[in-house]
Amino acid sequence: MPDVAARRDVQTLDNFVGGRWVQTRATDFFDVHNPAVGEIIGRTPLSTAADVDAAVQAATLAFPAWRDTPVNARAQVLYKFKARLEAHFDEIARIVTTEHGKTLDEARGSVRRGIECVEVACGAPSLMQGFGLEDIASGIDCHVVRQPLGVCAAIAPFNFPAMVPMWFLPFAIVTGNTFVLKPSEQVPLSQRKMVDLLQQCDLPAGVVNIVNGGRDVVDAMCDHPGIRAVSFVGSTAVAKHVYQRATHAGKRVQALGGAKNFVVVMPDADLERSIGIISESFYGCAGERCLAGSMLVPIGDVHRETRDRMVAAAQALKVGDGAQPGVTMGPVISARHRERVLGYIEKGVAEGAKLLVDGRQTRVADRPNGYFVGPTVFDEVSTKMTIGHDEIFGPVASMCPVKTLDEAIALMKSHPNANATSIFTSSGKAAREFSKHATASMVGVNIGVAAPMAYFPFGGAKDSFFGDLKVHGRDGIEFYTDKKVTISRWF
Ligand code: NAD
Repeated sequence: MPDVAARRDVQTLDNFVGGRWVQTRATDFFDVHNPAVGEIIGRTPLSTAADVDAAVQAATLAFPAWRDTPVNARAQVLYKFKARLEAHFDEIARIVTTEHGKTLDEARGSVRRGIECVEVACGAPSLMQGFGLEDIASGIDCHVVRQPLGVCAAIAPFNFPAMVPMWFLPFAIVTGNTFVLKPSEQVPLSQRKMVDLLQQCDLPAGVVNIVNGGRDVVDAMCDHPGIRAVSFVGSTAVAKHVYQRATHAGKRVQALGGAKNFVVVMPDADLERSIGIISESFYGCAGERCLAGSMLVPIGDVHRETRDRMVAAAQALKVGDGAQPGVTMGPVISARHRERVLGYIEKGVAEGAKLLVDGRQTRVADRPNGYFVGPTVFDEVSTKMTIGHDEIFGPVASMCPVKTLDEAIALMKSHPNANATSIFTSSGKAAREFSKHATASMVGVNIGVAAPMAYFPFGGAKDSFFGDLKVHGRDGIEFYTDKKVTISRWF
């Protein structure tokens, strides 16, 4: 909740507008916490529509010269940015762990994924090329070039503070657009660092801007007539809202929503080699991944062994401050989110699921105020139960045994979300059937977190994705450009 109490000892963030850090017009603030210790480490200003307008004006002013900058020169800025990010790699990862809670290894992995987006965007001189055909009629030629749109905006969720903004920023600017980012108010610190680094890379003022804040900033971005495209990542309800509001205002929109991911285990799965991968899918980043396993669906006889191994894997995790060596699972993002996850566990018990490992009692001795929830395993969960339907976004595995692969696929199809899914099997035929009929658009075969790399499209289907073009790779280039067709005849 916003906290308006003035705290002189905690730094309030500024916005980044026109190449400078500037104070906002905010009168409300959001406290940023280190979730492992429960302490306030910063204050996010809840900026206003006027702050959004100032950033859009700066981006609008910067656009003509930036779009006229040759694409290879724009890419040079990103090469420098990549070098800066590498030089500060560990520092950024530590900021991510401090503001978000994930372990340092997980934070490093996410920063690496962010850098990979910068690397792929450096290929814009090739990726952005158009196409043409001569003599489409006698003496008439036709050429297509990709042109930037103008000012583009992106709105980020809390769970990957250093990575998700990189799904957009490098692709948007290398194609010649200017950019306004709203980080999650819960985790704005790594973005501040990364934009500081970007500023050292000869990027003209106004090409990249940051407006900190919450829903008012989001709504102002959706409505602002100067913004041509909006990218959003977050929960399904807000993704739908942003998609509707921003498309209504005539913008191009890609809105990635929430998830409920089904992980299917076939009787022929190599469980010895798979269980660590499966456990990582459910408990990595404390379950706060849009690609996290949520429903574990063992088929037939493999139920008992899957259950026993999953229980053992959950019990083997070391919960604690992700900044400390040896810790394998950090806290969830906030006290409020901890209450929400605990509420789901209670609902699971009340609705008749069988609780095998109970994370409600987990305490971390040297971090008594951290927002910890221990790894939790439920068996005998149905999709009619609240925990079998809702996205919990915490370290809770719900096991739902079925008899056949068809039943498993039908379960997935019955759910409105369709982000990612995985199958564990040694059968090529089963894997093929599964991948073909999965509703989710990111499919893992003996892979627990089916995350497409930066040169492939990232995004789900149904209520997990609203829009047409997905994130990064060729779709990213398409999203940020318009195809201009010139048909010419010379006398
Ligand atoms: P969220 O929807 O609460 O917030 C996302 C962004 O929207 C934030 O910047 C926030 O300030 C803003 N926002 C929140 N409520 C708003 C409202 N009512 N109106 C306008 N703007 C609002 O999501 P979160 O809790 O930050 O992130 C977790 C969610 O994101 C999960 O559902 C997760 O599955 C999803 N997610 C999806 C993907 C994907 O690729 N599909 C990736 C990462 C996270």
